[in-house]
Amino acid sequence: MQPSDKSAHFDPDAVHAKYLEERDKRLIPGRAAIRDLTGDDVFAKYREDPFTAYVQRDALSDEVDVAIIGAGIAGVAAAVELRKAGLKRIRLIDQAGGVGGTWYWNRYPGVMCDVESYSYMPMLEELNYIPKNRYAFGDEIRGHVEGLARKFDLYEDALFHTGVKTTTWDEGISRWVIRTDRGDEIRARYVVMAVGILNLMKLPAIPGMELFKGKSFHTGRWDYDYTGGSQEDPQLSKLADKVVAIMGTGASAIQCIPALAESSKHLYVFQRTPSAIGVRGNHPTSEDFAKDLGPGWHRQRMYNFQQVMAAMPVDVDLVDDGWTHHFAKVHHPSMEPGMTPAEIMRRAEEEDFAIMEEHRARIDEIVKDAQAAEILKPYYRYLCKRPCFHDEYLPTFNRPNVTLIDCPGGVERVTERGLILSDGREFEFDCLIYATGFEAEATPFPRRAGHEIIGRGGVRLADKWESGASTLHGMMTRGFPNLFIMPCPGQQAVVTVNHTLITVEGAEHVGATVKLLEESKIKVFDVSGEAETEWKEIILSSYVDGSAIMGACTPSRINNEGNVSAVSPLSGSYGGGIGDFFGFRQILDEWRDHGLVGLELEQ
Ligand code: NDP
Repeated sequence: MQPSDKSAHFDPDAVHAKYLEERDKRLIPGRAAIRDLTGDDVFAKYREDPFTAYVQRDALSDEVDVAIIGAGIAGVAAAVELRKAGLKRIRLIDQAGGVGGTWYWNRYPGVMCDVESYSYMPMLEELNYIPKNRYAFGDEIRGHVEGLARKFDLYEDALFHTGVKTTTWDEGISRWVIRTDRGDEIRARYVVMAVGILNLMKLPAIPGMELFKGKSFHTGRWDYDYTGGSQEDPQLSKLADKVVAIMGTGASAIQCIPALAESSKHLYVFQRTPSAIGVRGNHPTSEDFAKDLGPGWHRQRMYNFQQVMAAMPVDVDLVDDGWTHHFAKVHHPSMEPGMTPAEIMRRAEEEDFAIMEEHRARIDEIVKDAQAAEILKPYYRYLCKRPCFHDEYLPTFNRPNVTLIDCPGGVERVTERGLILSDGREFEFDCLIYATGFEAEATPFPRRAGHEIIGRGGVRLADKWESGASTLHGMMTRGFPNLFIMPCPGQQAVVTVNHTLITVEGAEHVGATVKLLEESKIKVFDVSGEAETEWKEIILSSYVDGSAIMGACTPSRINNEGNVSAVSPLSGSYGGGIGDFFGFRQILDEWRDHGLVGLELEQ
């Protein structure tokens, strides 16, 4: 099979064989082993904040209306909605030195969001803001979240560079008590967990990492002191005499590799699995863009994107990019009346193959060296790995100072001066950048929260959820009164490719629910056992077992690194698969309209 030949027709047996052969090269023992940075003193330097100086302060002991753990987009959006609901003392708490979450930490050169800015950036109408480009760079997104925090007075009570150690329900005072690594003791009537979905940096566990004598850091903590330049001006002038290595070719790597290639004396790109790199087509926002936008335009645009992704009929595809062309098509293959399930599966595969062929052909068009081009070609189904979009990444491999290293079997060991691959090849360099990503979105919430959450009767949330989430709407859980958890993948809510959509809707739900509780002078709410059981059954009844397709995929975050059997049906979404966003939304609206059925309320 020569699948990258544009004229290649779809031969299922040849395609399956090729895809499985490529998968098996990567399905090697230990490929997913990580250094657990959460409690690792040897690697503590990888966690340090290079962006904001740490300032000593006295420990606090006080009471607020709501403590929000996490000051990323979800935490800030929840805070905005709770402010609108009338709460006065709103305290954002974050380990970062400011708001922004992922956009606070990820400042690597070229960092941007590959979901269209006019849909991704939250609450644009609140700030009357029109993004500068079709796809926004990270500093603009962070600046926008900071603007929201300023407008809604969220800085005054916020605590940054503060890690929560425990969140404990105190039945005697009907308050949550939050203890932090700064010695604070904060009492709160409500708590919102907005801890993020990709908040845990993943550092692979490779023997010898601690021996490396050069510079090393993770893309989530870019060291501009070492590289020179800044996020706003990514001319990495201090790398001119440096040999640099980057490990990883996922969404973060492809965005920073062009800047690294331009600045480094030499760049080695260590690729375990190639990404599918679609067309980006970024451009400045046209002067006409905002001309005809009426009130509500932003939500309409987000909904339009979501409708297209869900293959719902729309008059026009407003976003009209790789997501709406490819993702939607792969999820919803074209069907004709009377097709059998086998024919539908075959059609889906055929359409998927055509999309992957487009990606492979693009590589041949751009990358001049035939061997490098072949190495860069992804041989798996489109959604086996998160798709990427970029226009400068592939041309980088035409530069004489860039060497692409194919290492499907991974890295054997890191040495004092470089690394050795599993096939014995050895490389030396001055700087090693880990673009090795983050723990999967589906990492259980208690681990992502990174601290003990202790509810009624001393029950730990980690114990309650040991074999899977147990919730009402994926956002509340029995025995943990007055607590909201922002919707996340793997947690019985829904997943949207534009994560901001479910985030702002979740924030509105939290705000509107609290408003109703306050109006009725409710002091404590808890989820009834029946309501939680009922929601669990709804989730389980719509669970779709995708293990056959996912098992044939190249190992990645999306299929639990090839270990599909370990995924619990309890981590499903409302509506099955990635979920039915519009149905979920309607359920939340009706639930609030009909008196919060399923909550036990104390006045
Ligand atoms: P990814 O998980 O996508 O990529 C990690 C890379 O590191 C992969 O290429 C992986 O190879 C490689 N890797 C991991 N461990 C090893 C190892 N031991 N040896 C060699 N290579 C290794 O992480 P990213 O940071 O790129 O992205 C994470 C997520 O963040 C994205 O999927 C996306 O959801 C989000 N993101 C979104 C962006 C946006 O524009 N919206 C931009 C950037 C990130 P392999 O593939 O073989 O596992």
